[in-house]
Amino acid sequence: MAQHYDTIVVGVGGMGSAVAYQLSARGQRVLGIERFELGHGRGSSHGETRIIRLAYFEGSAYVPFVRRAYQLWQDLSAKAGAPLLHRTGSLEMSERGYDFVDRSRASCVDHGLPHEMLDADEVMQRFPAFKVTPTTRAIFQPDGGYVLCEAGTHAHATLAAQNGATLKFGETVLEFQPTADGGVAVHTDRARYTAGQLVLTAGPWMGQLVPSLGENLATFKQAVAWFRPARLELFKPAAFPVFIHFSEDGEFYGLPMHSARGVKVGGPHFAREPIDPDAREREASPAQIKALQDFVGRHLPAASGPAIDTTACIYTKTPDEHFIIDRLPQLPQVVVVSACSGHGFKFAPAIGEIVAELVIDGRSKLDITPFALARFEAVQTSL
Ligand SMILES: Cc1cc2nc3c(=O)[nH]c(=O)nc-3n(C[C@H](O)[C@H](O)[C@H](O)COP(=O)(O)OP(=O)(O)OC[C@H]3O[C@@H](n4cnc5c(N)ncnc54)[C@H](O)[C@@H]3O)c2cc1C
Repeated sequence: MAQHYDTIVVGVGGMGSAVAYQLSARGQRVLGIERFELGHGRGSSHGETRIIRLAYFEGSAYVPFVRRAYQLWQDLSAKAGAPLLHRTGSLEMSERGYDFVDRSRASCVDHGLPHEMLDADEVMQRFPAFKVTPTTRAIFQPDGGYVLCEAGTHAHATLAAQNGATLKFGETVLEFQPTADGGVAVHTDRARYTAGQLVLTAGPWMGQLVPSLGENLATFKQAVAWFRPARLELFKPAAFPVFIHFSEDGEFYGLPMHSARGVKVGGPHFAREPIDPDAREREASPAQIKALQDFVGRHLPAASGPAIDTTACIYTKTPDEHFIIDRLPQLPQVVVVSACSGHGFKFAPAIGEIVAELVIDGRSKLDITPFALARFEAVQTSL
């Protein structure tokens, strides 16, 4: 007979670990199934650090979600006994012709967030690691910073297990079906399980589990690299905020030195390379690494030189670059979570909470209608 749970979570990565934790903290019997090992480097949640910021050019509506995420990252840090959230301030810079800084400013104004507008000289005086063109405009928001991605996933999973959640690693979900009692049966390469509800947090592999979603979820290989600065003091968290830089060369971002690994730079978004998440070849390409080195040479001269480490990570992109958090229309016992498009990790603890509320209470306190599947025309429930 199949083992039965209240909720099964498919994929124990950035989002799935948070969902498993929040469900188990509310007393649910939870099974999390992960095809690889905890914190693996084949999906979307590896690479040491992720930017967290309140100045949100993607849309002012995200700000309440980030605010809740800040609170929950602090709670998680306290429970894990390790600082997972580091504040450095966030600096967004646009060259002439780009409206990203204005969009970030709008989110600060809408939500009464402290912020400062800086011109190019002010950027370089205040943060001497940067070299920017004279027409650059910037917004500095003091709450921005970074969170630790593998450590955060590890903390959520560890706490979930301490709450009694069963987490299985090295086991792949092959398919799921509705059961006669309104629940769901899940078949893996090892066993069959049943549950009242199913949460899919499969990241780049979501399209394999729900093929009808596939056309709205494109996967891209995105490169990041670490550079060792000649002047370390310019790139330490106290002197160097997390940043995003928009220009005709693309959208690049970076984070201060968190460890001896160096200063981390990612992007450019124009050099995203389509990737099958099952592809064997997963390294950052030479063209992607060159684009990062060129950016560092132009804008972070004290860190220029060859990358000392690189990795590639998978972006799962929706057509409008907003998240999906919804029940499948004709299988309401299945919740789909794709917090993606290159900006989802910061929200992980808040998304865990939202999904737990959805599963247990039937609705979340924060309004998730912007993330509904209904905005995509062709979504069916074919499995
Ligand atoms: C280079 C890069 C930089 C980024 N920078 C930022 C940033 O600065 N700030 C920010 O907020 N966000 C950022 N993001 C986005 C963020 O990292 C992602 O949105 C987030 O990690 C997605 O988490 P996930 O849980 O959906 O995916 P994942 O963490 O990949 O988890 C999905 C899990 O499901 C498992 N799985 C899949 N299919 C199955 C199956 N059939 N059976 C069992 N297990 C399965 C996978 O093995 C995987 O572990 C960035 C992303 C990348 C790639």
